[in-house]
Amino acid sequence: YSTAAATEEPIKPTVNIEHTQLLIDGKFVNAASGKTFPTLDPRTGEVITHVAEGDAEDVNRAVSAARKAFDLGPWPRMTAYERSRILLRFADLIEKHNDEIAALETWDNGKPYEQSAQIEIPMLVRLFRYYAGWADKIHGLTVPADGPYHVQTLHEPIGVAGQIIPWNFPLLMFAWKVGPALACGNTIVLKTAEQTPLSALYVAKLLHEAGVPDGVLNILSGFGPTAGAALASHMDVDKLAFTGSTDTGKIVLELAARSNLKPVTLELGGKSPFIVCEDADVDQAVEQAHFALFFNQGQCCCAGSRTFVHERVYDEFIEKAKARALKRSVGDPFKGGIEQGPQIDSEQFEKILKYIRSGVESGATLETGGDRLGNKGFYIKPTVFSNVQDNMSIAKDEIFGPVQSILKFRDLEEVIKRANNTRYGLAAGVYTKSLDTANILTRSLRAGTVWINCFDTFDAAIPFGGYKMSGIGREKGIYSLNNYLQVKAVVTPLQNPTW
Ligand code: NAD
Repeated sequence: YSTAAATEEPIKPTVNIEHTQLLIDGKFVNAASGKTFPTLDPRTGEVITHVAEGDAEDVNRAVSAARKAFDLGPWPRMTAYERSRILLRFADLIEKHNDEIAALETWDNGKPYEQSAQIEIPMLVRLFRYYAGWADKIHGLTVPADGPYHVQTLHEPIGVAGQIIPWNFPLLMFAWKVGPALACGNTIVLKTAEQTPLSALYVAKLLHEAGVPDGVLNILSGFGPTAGAALASHMDVDKLAFTGSTDTGKIVLELAARSNLKPVTLELGGKSPFIVCEDADVDQAVEQAHFALFFNQGQCCCAGSRTFVHERVYDEFIEKAKARALKRSVGDPFKGGIEQGPQIDSEQFEKILKYIRSGVESGATLETGGDRLGNKGFYIKPTVFSNVQDNMSIAKDEIFGPVQSILKFRDLEEVIKRANNTRYGLAAGVYTKSLDTANILTRSLRAGTVWINCFDTFDAAIPFGGYKMSGIGREKGIYSLNNYLQVKAVVTPLQNPTW
């Protein structure tokens, strides 16, 4: 791999940090406690800046602002067309500030700037335009019921939505949650991940510039067990949407149940299979399997983290996968041509290195990588293991890092069983030239997304979510609207039943 940039002086980002306070009722304010916490640069582990630390009292303030904006404010009452126009203006403003937003995202998260600027921020724009398009197309049905009744359904916003997001795609996760909730006319209290608080504050300001009324979107920086738990258990929050680990998903589901039984959608972890069949184009499969695992420093919930390869192409695949990992350019994410930046923080960094040690100890073959890169920040060498067995922890647990685990298989029936033998079910990838094989695998794999001869295609219209312990519900596409709507049945007697 190209390593130079990871050991050089970090490049100085060219963006000013304007907002570090909480956003409550349209104003940037300090935390009630006055507390702040540092957010760190993953390239060095040094402090970027300090941000206000929201906790239970700030959650109360933010929820009452959102409640007021929902119960009394113009947002749920304005025409859907006007809401749609505000969302479109918001998308235009994001587009206008694309490069600053991308720089902030990369600085706080460590992902390559080119990925932020050319892929993720444009996806954010696309997603808000997509949901702007839905705002004035949400409507109920006329229901042909028995008896002399006129029956219709009204699709109403659900109310105050509590949203908790992770650090791996700070702004995309923001968009997946905020886009549909706003299109449906809800108000929001969103808690960002403590590792990446900066970019959401920046774009929230733009949303107000676009014309969203005060109190409609409130943003809290802060920690999970304090701010997050207070939001999940708040009695005046009408719906909770969470993205993060499966363990935390269980906690928030329980908090929601124990408080006011608010409905919960969960986007959780994964251990997705990537299946390379004997008839696959091996070069293409190697490239896509590499992308499926290493994209975003391996910090993807749907990462193809169990690469199953048919025995006939296995040796060739290993050689090529290793060569591809060795070619990966790792370094300062602000440098051009960089494919991989640092991991998010020291906790994830240590966790990944521990999994690598466990892979070696349990007898998998370390083909390349296996160690940190450089001596500062959280860079890890792209790592490839072959001869991985199903019962090894590197084949069972979510590593959330640049560690590819390659397993050998013999036939379809066997690989279906092994691919499904996991508590997760977020996604799966399949490489084959046979339509029959693709059809059999598509229908047999228990996962929320199956990508055939591609991976990580994230159009705003495509629903995303998990089977089993990967989650509850779907985000994106038309499916996400249901998360933010209540259905009200309205029944009126007909005066003259013979009509
Ligand atoms: P995490 O569960 O630790 O944190 C996610 C969010 O939950 C953060 O905002 C955190 O502050 C908050 N949180 C933590 N403890 C909480 C508590 N007790 N109550 C309320 N909120 C709490 O996860 P993470 O390590 O930040 O993110 C990585 C995980 O997220 C991975 O497992 C990954 O697979 C998953 N993820 C899933 C998807 C998806 O769409 N399925 C997308 C991105 C990430």
